Amino acid sequence: MNVPFLDLKAQYKTLKQEIDNKILEVVESQKFILGSEVTELEKKIASYTETKYAIGVSSGSDALIVSLMALGIGKDDAIVTTPFTFFATVGAIIRVGARVVFCDIDKKTYNMNPDSLEDVIKVEIKKQSSSRVRAIIPVHLYGQCADMAPILASAEKYNLSVIEDAAQAIGAGYPSPSGVKNACGMGDLGILSFFPSKNLGAFGDGGMILTDNEKLAEKVRILRVHGAQNKYFHDIIGGNFRLDSIQAAVLLVKLKYLDHWSQKRQHNALLYDRLFDETGLTAKGILQVPDAVYKPIGIPRYHIYNQYVIRAKKRDELQKYLTSKRIATAIYYPLALHLQKCFAYLGYKEGDFPETEKATTEVLALPIFPELDNDQQEYIVASIKEFYEIGY
Ligand SMILES: *Cc1c(COP(=O)(O)O)cnc(C)c1O
Repeated sequence: MNVPFLDLKAQYKTLKQEIDNKILEVVESQKFILGSEVTELEKKIASYTETKYAIGVSSGSDALIVSLMALGIGKDDAIVTTPFTFFATVGAIIRVGARVVFCDIDKKTYNMNPDSLEDVIKVEIKKQSSSRVRAIIPVHLYGQCADMAPILASAEKYNLSVIEDAAQAIGAGYPSPSGVKNACGMGDLGILSFFPSKNLGAFGDGGMILTDNEKLAEKVRILRVHGAQNKYFHDIIGGNFRLDSIQAAVLLVKLKYLDHWSQKRQHNALLYDRLFDETGLTAKGILQVPDAVYKPIGIPRYHIYNQYVIRAKKRDELQKYLTSKRIATAIYYPLALHLQKCFAYLGYKEGDFPETEKATTEVLALPIFPELDNDQQEYIVASIKEFYEIGY
């Protein structure tokens, strides 16, 4: 049996007619830049995430850059995030000229550890360095929200802005003390990515910025078009951060199926959980299934499983074995950001973030895409069991 990591062709097959027609409409109109499809998508995603304003942008990475620009973050500022995320989270901070400050992750969720966050903020305040902490970027990794209540409390206490990196978490929910909140609906700004492998993927690059703050929304809109409120008159310096109409057209079709797909992913996750439980590997501590801290399934959607990530002993050997069984897997992420060569100048060293570093050696993402079938899942789990039985 051959199990791909993601099967976008299968997804396209089921929607081909609808998507092709919608793309053709854009082609006929020849309105490729910020057309009516973009406006319609912005309205729909605002409603989907229960936020007031949505601004379509060129990618998730650009959404992070523009959010930081909208907050006026620059060379005198520092931003706290985790070293266990996709490069773009930190790349954006550096790109606007700010300094990055890392805190460690929670070992169960892989998300920002609120205690570690509080600790590093305190250290920063004591240091009185020339760049002051101005904002926090919690990342909702793999599709599960970071523990936002204490993070928001820290933000309030130290007067910091919050940008939620929800690139992997469209539609994820967080059970806050005051009811279920949506990813992107808790910070000052939230960002989404429509990279093809995200749960809502375009036919190319795309992203979105969400906010309830009218002033920030207005600023993002202006930054998106080179900082011009009126064409050719520039009060601030922005860039070309626009979303294409063709991408918006594709996303408008796909958005209708997003909840259904997320439920399929949740269903697949539950089946994995059960199958792994039956192998006895979890009880023996050889393998750990993802800890969906916020358990309920369906809607509200707590964990939308952009990735189903296990922790495994002998991870690299296991991955090789699965490759030999034609099962595709992935490692998000094999090297912590504080140990990347390009960030050596920051002065972090091995041992600074133990939970992050441990995770980089143990995590393995298994196929979880909606079209995955039960037989494939059974084959994957049986193969993993086989690997440990053969004796590693
Ligand atoms: C994918 C991703 C991004 C960047 O999104 P792009 O659209 O690929 O630029 C940012 N942060 C995280 C956590 C991501 O997974």
